[in-house]
Amino acid sequence: MAKVTFDTDRCKGCGLCVAACPKGIVSLAHERINAKGYHPAEVVDMDKCVGCASCARMCPDCVITVER
Ligand code: SF4
Ligand code: SF4
Repeated sequence: MAKVTFDTDRCKGCGLCVAACPKGIVSLAHERINAKGYHPAEVVDMDKCVGCASCARMCPDCVITVER
């Protein structure tokens, strides 16, 4: 199974990764705020991740790492 990790405090909450995920499992964590003051991106259902790395490729700040 793929593993997606976020360097959370570098996320600027732009949502590009949310739009890029074909499985619709990336979202912004509205209940959390990171060191920059943004709602950071997270994967809400890792079991559905197919490891395509679209999210990581889309992120302008290289916040996301996908391992498979
Ligand atoms: S690797 Fe692909 S399926 Fe998994 S969270 Fe990223 S965009 Fe979605
Ligand atoms: S694309 Fe990168 S900076 Fe933008 S919300 Fe996703 S992880 Fe954060």
